[in-house]
Amino acid sequence: MKRRAYNFSAGPSVLPEKVLEKARSELTSWHGCGMSVMEMSHREKEFVSIAKDAEARLRSLMRIPEEYHVLFLQGGASLQFSAIPMNILRDKSKMAYIETGTWSEKAIKAARQYGTVSVIASSKADAYTTAPDLSDLPLDDSFAYVHYTPNETIHGVRIFDIPDTKGIPLVADMSSMILSEPIDVTRFGLIYAGAQKNVGPAGVTIVIVRKDLCGASAPTTPDVLDYSKQAKDGSMINTPPCFAWYMAGLVFEWIETEGGIEVMHARARSRATTLYGAIDGSKFYRNPVKRAYRSLMNIPFVLKDQTLDEQFLVEAGASGLQTLAGHRSVGGMRASLYNAMPQSGVEALVEFMRAFEKEHETA
Ligand SMILES: *Cc1c(COP(=O)(O)O)cnc(C)c1O
Repeated sequence: MKRRAYNFSAGPSVLPEKVLEKARSELTSWHGCGMSVMEMSHREKEFVSIAKDAEARLRSLMRIPEEYHVLFLQGGASLQFSAIPMNILRDKSKMAYIETGTWSEKAIKAARQYGTVSVIASSKADAYTTAPDLSDLPLDDSFAYVHYTPNETIHGVRIFDIPDTKGIPLVADMSSMILSEPIDVTRFGLIYAGAQKNVGPAGVTIVIVRKDLCGASAPTTPDVLDYSKQAKDGSMINTPPCFAWYMAGLVFEWIETEGGIEVMHARARSRATTLYGAIDGSKFYRNPVKRAYRSLMNIPFVLKDQTLDEQFLVEAGASGLQTLAGHRSVGGMRASLYNAMPQSGVEALVEFMRAFEKEHETA
């Protein structure tokens, strides 16, 4: 059998091989029950135990306090762009957004359907190659919440410091960085993430929300999007994404076995240092993002001679380095280095980049 490729996809993305092996070993008969997780009723004790176990592991890994609901929903991070204002705007009509790239732009566009959005900081004028100054945000009590995207997956921009929102609930789209470093959950009103980057396969969306923000959703909110109602029913108002939820639980277990989130963080820093070092040390490759705001998870880079892009991708693929094309909106290359990417994958990429440069350097 062909060895596994190093997969640099931004999402759906690489999963830990041990998780895939375990899922395979349990695929046709989970824990000897005679059926696959894909075939079980979500109301039976087997799946209920899988679901509860996954939640408990996530609570323990992220140290999520009792004051927060942990929900496993559907619709991706994108549906949360609308579900968030529906649920937590409550008696207010204004919300504040920080604009740092494509994903925050999309969140802003969706939120405008539900209230008056103020973009209180933006790095759009810098083509999203940096983050805006967040030191003195223009905030007052009329805002229901402040939304930001700590890791912009497409532009490779990271906000490392949690913004001071002067007591206003902070909402974070952590889709492409959740579980890659320790986070103080108590600093947030709501954290959400589509699973298909650092958590598991596509199909499940994690929402971690402070209980006191829930319970006063807009009257038009569908039940399946209502955080309180979903919490009351264990995220099972309707059929949940059972298999993706189960896989997320296996990933949580894998992170525990590997040593927890601190270990994930150390590995992430090591991978990023290796790749940024190679890019910065060459005149052939370039990363456009200001150093203080560079993502540890998604690293875009361009070739000096863009007519070589196609050849770069073809030859990288032939060397077992897959899915390195940048997002179609920005072009160039992008290496996504999520938790399941081993250091050896980054090293193989850097080795390939050096060889490719050597071959195409003009003297
Ligand atoms: C991928 C991504 C999304 C969209 O996720 P879906 O689950 O496909 O809706 C939103 N925000 C960020 C930061 C992402 O990386």
